[in-house]
Amino acid sequence: MAVLHNRISQKELKERLYQETEPRITLSFYHYFPVPDPANFRDELYQSLVKLKVFGRIYIAHEGINAQVSVPAGNFEAMRDYLHSIAPLAGIRLNVAVDDDGKSFWVLKVKVREKIVADGITDNSFSMENKGRYVDAAEMNDLMKDPDTVVIDMRNHYEFEVGHFENALEIPSDTFREQLPMAVQMMNDKKDKNIIMYCTGGIRCEKASAFMLHNGFKNVFHLAGGIINYAQQVKEMDLENKFIGKNFVFDDRLGERITDDVIAKCHQCGIPADTHTNCRNSGCHLLFIQCTACAEKYEGCCSQECYDILQLPEEEQKKIRAGIDKGRNIFNKSKARLRPKIKKTGSE
Ligand SMILES: [Zn+2]
Ligand SMILES: [Zn+2]
Repeated sequence: MAVLHNRISQKELKERLYQETEPRITLSFYHYFPVPDPANFRDELYQSLVKLKVFGRIYIAHEGINAQVSVPAGNFEAMRDYLHSIAPLAGIRLNVAVDDDGKSFWVLKVKVREKIVADGITDNSFSMENKGRYVDAAEMNDLMKDPDTVVIDMRNHYEFEVGHFENALEIPSDTFREQLPMAVQMMNDKKDKNIIMYCTGGIRCEKASAFMLHNGFKNVFHLAGGIINYAQQVKEMDLENKFIGKNFVFDDRLGERITDDVIAKCHQCGIPADTHTNCRNSGCHLLFIQCTACAEKYEGCCSQECYDILQLPEEEQKKIRAGIDKGRNIFNKSKARLRPKIKKTGSE
């Protein structure tokens, strides 16, 4: 059997990536389908994709596959053909990242996990085989005209805060695990309504839709491909746009503007603002919304306290960092993901 992991140093792998001359395409895909033997599927995938020089990370679970990868442009079609040759993945949508330099990954990791999206569901009778119905942008718009339709946002608060669908219901928690039972509870007296669930790329709301059905809801829909796909379809087909504000995404831009509406407020002074930033004090790194005036006044820091620390010599700052419990950051979970990708993957 082929060696399934790399014995070459991270440093060397990175150097190799930067020496590549052929551009890479970065893309993501996911699919829920029964995988009887995840370890075996992982081995097969790894061996085939490594030949195509695919980098990135792929999670396999009994419930399906979730992948973020890059592939040399010349191998893109071969990779797509290979994926489509796997019966349950025939015709799978590959979401190609725009504005990406293709340098996010320099090694392929295919891992077996308990779930492709951690959901905290302990009920063994829950299955992803019974999912809500997909809606595309046009169908979602139509369904939203029905007064008996409720739209539910399955993302985190900081995502909802800067942009969401008209009249969408927020499930107020920053973890998906907590949101699932909360959504059921909040909708308990609305079992006869049409429920449309959505998230950024579709992977969370697809699971949420299955969970609602599992809990006795009947008319459950979810937005295929999430907000990313909705925004594209609205543009391409010149449809009415019912998403207001910004779609928060984890890349350098921290969000793609969909409409000019600014629906959030600066966390420091309260004026309308929707630009997320990470506190410049690296002992803090809090993700928060800051207006341009506050950004200038606090030099990109979240508080006077962090501003004061930033004025100290680097050595002093290091000493303070060593003693800090970073638990105070409310956006702790997202924080690691917001660091430059190169650093992130290296420490995995
Ligand atoms: Zn401000
Ligand atoms: Zn701070």
